[in-house]
Amino acid sequence: MPIYLDNAATTPVCPQAAQAAFEVMTEGYGNPSSGYELGRQAARRLEADRAAVAQRLGCGPEELTFVSCGTEGDNWSVLAAAERGKRLGKHIVATAIEHAAVLEPVKALAARGYEVTWLRPDRTGHVSAGDLRAALRTDTVLVSMMLVNNELGTLQPVADAAQAIREAGCPALLHCDAVQGFLKVPFTPARLGVDLLTLSGHKVRAPKGVGVQYIRKGLDIKPLLRGGGQENGLRSGTEPTAQAAALAAACAAWQDSYPSRILEIKEYALELLSALPGLEIISRGDAPHICAVALPGYPSEMLVRELSDRGICVSSGSACHKGRPSHVFAALGLPKRTLMGVLRLSFGPDNTRADADILAEALGEITKKRIAMR
Ligand code: PLP
Repeated sequence: MPIYLDNAATTPVCPQAAQAAFEVMTEGYGNPSSGYELGRQAARRLEADRAAVAQRLGCGPEELTFVSCGTEGDNWSVLAAAERGKRLGKHIVATAIEHAAVLEPVKALAARGYEVTWLRPDRTGHVSAGDLRAALRTDTVLVSMMLVNNELGTLQPVADAAQAIREAGCPALLHCDAVQGFLKVPFTPARLGVDLLTLSGHKVRAPKGVGVQYIRKGLDIKPLLRGGGQENGLRSGTEPTAQAAALAAACAAWQDSYPSRILEIKEYALELLSALPGLEIISRGDAPHICAVALPGYPSEMLVRELSDRGICVSSGSACHKGRPSHVFAALGLPKRTLMGVLRLSFGPDNTRADADILAEALGEITKKRIAMR
């Protein structure tokens, strides 16, 4: 079994989620729109699963739409918010460290004539609510701010953003990509004050192929897909019943003790790694599961490969995309040598201190080899 330290990329499906999906696929496989009992059963199960996810998120089930992934929810949120506000203005504010699932639709809107103000992070990877306040205009129709950055683990001031929008009296909808925050940090959409919020199943031990889009009750946005009118007409297409069951089961199986357990392992790993010569801690992360380190001058793809050879899975990330440093680390203003050697580590409930020991030993050997080569 590999030492899996890339839980921000995806997670192993927990047995409860796999079992729930199996049951729905093999026994409760009816189409929720069918009028006979097998279909009605599937519809009842889908609503029970929606309610279970809603309970975990702290919102009403009628506020949740099942989608296929976080990318789908992010794209829908950005494009639908712009569409809804098109008569009020064409100004968007987004953080410069959003995931590509937000960045790309925002850039597509920019190509269609929208003006975008990018909020840049400080050296620690946090954007400021003050900068947002200064950026808001009477024609701002969308603010998109993630809850937890996927490469740094930093928490962004989403609740402050909601307050700034209220105070500015501008028509902007607030979208939050909470893909990395769900179940890891405490929040509810209402307490954050967001209009739209996006989650992804495979980051929380459900399978790939399911996400959840929160749309604040009473908010009218354009459907994502048109067709048979499923999901209250917002996302047509036969509902992903097995994936929804798996996500609900993963939510139920997620223990409240996990975040503190995960944090304890991350802190232990950081303590070991900070003793290694030449290794820099780039971000300790505010969220329990993500941190970033660097071996300046050592290409991270090489590090990923060498660690992989030792059975350890970590990410250069989103860190190095097609040989270029990620926009997130670049936005921190790190020196080029440091940018080259960045690694993201992300922990989950299955990790143990022994995993951190093995990682530290492997990175220790790699740093020693590097010093000897100089
Ligand atoms: N947003 C963030 C912050 C993410 O970390 C990810 C996945 O890495 C996504 C969105 C996209 O989610 P999905 O892989 O479900 O499309």
